[in-house]
Amino acid sequence: MIVKTEGIVLKSFDFRETSRIATFFTRDFGKVKGVLKGIRKDPRKFGSSIEKFSVNDIVYYQYRNSDIHLVSHCDMKDFFSGLRQDLERMTAASYASELIDTLMPAEEQNLEIYGLMQAFLHALQSTSDVSKLVQTFQIKILSLSGFQPHLEACVSCHKIVEEHPRFSLRLGGLLCGVCKDNAEATPISLGAVASILHIQKNNWEAALRLGMAPFIKKELKYVLNHFLVFHLERHLRSTRFLS
Ligand SMILES: [Zn+2]
Repeated sequence: MIVKTEGIVLKSFDFRETSRIATFFTRDFGKVKGVLKGIRKDPRKFGSSIEKFSVNDIVYYQYRNSDIHLVSHCDMKDFFSGLRQDLERMTAASYASELIDTLMPAEEQNLEIYGLMQAFLHALQSTSDVSKLVQTFQIKILSLSGFQPHLEACVSCHKIVEEHPRFSLRLGGLLCGVCKDNAEATPISLGAVASILHIQKNNWEAALRLGMAPFIKKELKYVLNHFLVFHLERHLRSTRFLS
């Protein structure tokens, strides 16, 4: 079957003498792997150099019994040149690509995460605050991929946490002063909790407008990075176990 869609390059590597294999996050079919035959021998064969996180119009032949499909056309649509001169922006875009590659199952459409990645890459070109953009992306992708941390109330007794909240990585949410002794949990400020809730509840543009004090950003960085590593490791272990 011939398939036409649009996709963001998550990663690519050389294959055999003259080809490359790329992982695209496509609008219509989610994460798709394709081989671009002869692209290294004759780069003009394709209208794209399949640069990481570029957006491309692609046409591929879908093999029924393989998870790698044959790409016949690949034309670059958006290169995001505004972020390529800056190491911090490039690192952030690579991190977002890796997160999507790790979190998303193969060939499962997710338009919301596709839209999120596009919005993130566009904003990354002009933002003056890369770390806040990355944190907003982390909170949004956790929600959209089913790993949203629970911050409305204590995950153990379900009471509203009004003071001294703690965050449990393992339980994926807040613990109150009474329940904190039953599980490992790190202190988190009410301001950091309110910031995450605000970003969870609002759309991308409104979420980005939220002002954050430096100490809250520092806290969010710690909590989000640890939470993602904890859940991704567990997620990767269970996927490996299944396959
Ligand atoms: Zn509790």
